[in-house]
Amino acid sequence: MKAANAILSSYGTTIFEVMSRLAAEHGAVNLGQGFPEGLEPKKVVRAAEEALTRLSNQYPPMMGIPELRQAVAEHAGRHYGLDLDWRTEVMVTSGATEALADCLLGLIEPGDEVVLIEPLYDSYLPIVRRAGGVPRLVRLEPPHWELPREALARAFSDRTKLLLLNSPMNPAGKVFAQDDLDFIAGLLVRHDAYAVCDEVYEHLAFDGRPHIPLITLPGMRERCVRIGSAGKIFSLTGWKVGFVSACPALLAPIAKAHQFLTFTTAPNLQAAVAYGLREIPDYYLNLGVELQARRDRLAEGLSAAGFAVMGCQGTYFLTADIKPLGFAGNDAEFCRHITVQAGVTAVPVSAFYQAGDVDHYVRFCFARPEALIDEAIRRLRQHFGRA
Ligand code: PMP
Ligand code: GLN
Repeated sequence: MKAANAILSSYGTTIFEVMSRLAAEHGAVNLGQGFPEGLEPKKVVRAAEEALTRLSNQYPPMMGIPELRQAVAEHAGRHYGLDLDWRTEVMVTSGATEALADCLLGLIEPGDEVVLIEPLYDSYLPIVRRAGGVPRLVRLEPPHWELPREALARAFSDRTKLLLLNSPMNPAGKVFAQDDLDFIAGLLVRHDAYAVCDEVYEHLAFDGRPHIPLITLPGMRERCVRIGSAGKIFSLTGWKVGFVSACPALLAPIAKAHQFLTFTTAPNLQAAVAYGLREIPDYYLNLGVELQARRDRLAEGLSAAGFAVMGCQGTYFLTADIKPLGFAGNDAEFCRHITVQAGVTAVPVSAFYQAGDVDHYVRFCFARPEALIDEAIRRLRQHFGRA
């Protein structure tokens, strides 16, 4: 048999799928893969149900249905003061994952350098490499996840095409503050580079911390592509409805990739997301308050079970150091161990690094019902003799 594509073949099955399968196999409480449970807004689900019979079920327009593109533009105006022309600056995709692939395939020329910040979401690197990009990795590390500015500056060169920035950041729970964003903006200008901004957790910044889209900074409007996800905004991750917003010169090549990858997205889901963005913004604004309480509940429980818990400014993930537990093994072995032996699933943070020695941190998702969080904690405390 002839060899398949070497880059994609070199990757195993994504860690989220691996851990969720293992959790199901062992009946474990799954705090691994990032998906909410029990938070889905009924009105939005009903709107999708209703739109399935009201609307045509044939291909919607390639750029997305006008209602949703308008709603995305209005949302960006309302929250960030962004003035987007929905006709030329907004496109709907089948999830943020597709949006990321569209951006990378549409913008990168083979040989272009791409700056990425670890820990990173696992779809970034394979697509950058498949697009012919040359990754330049900069590492943030626990416990503080500080941006190493000198290393970031060194990662840029005249060959840099773009930076991929995820804020609020999975799995670090970091929300990039104004001074880091100013520094990044300076580098983009100095090197005439773009930024692809993965902002899927935009409404999950806690403790009154603002989420600041890089595109809103001076000089960034023409350099940044902003990606959002209805899956995250409405806790409906299976829907896979995403959005890309950028100036026309950037959006046009990105749309070229979209037209050949998925072309379009289920019309009833698009209509329901448009309805949700316009009619029930209080849902996603309250979600942060609700999840912040769950974050604190999980953090307290994990500490009581013997973990050293890291801070979490945003997203729905907490990372914890397993060292104090005295486990003889790395983070991946630990996650397998607690799934099988304690009945609780987490995700190893090393899966978000290409290589290196960050191998004793694990990530827990707290967007789960409180009773489930409590049950996970009960199991962990019992397993580690801290009941
Ligand atoms: N980016 C980040 C940082 C994520 O954590 C996720 C995962 N849900 C995505 C993108 C993908 O979002 P979607 O489900 O809309 O494809
Ligand atoms: N983004 C989610 C996470 O970090 C998972 C998405 C996926 O399973 N691909 O857990």
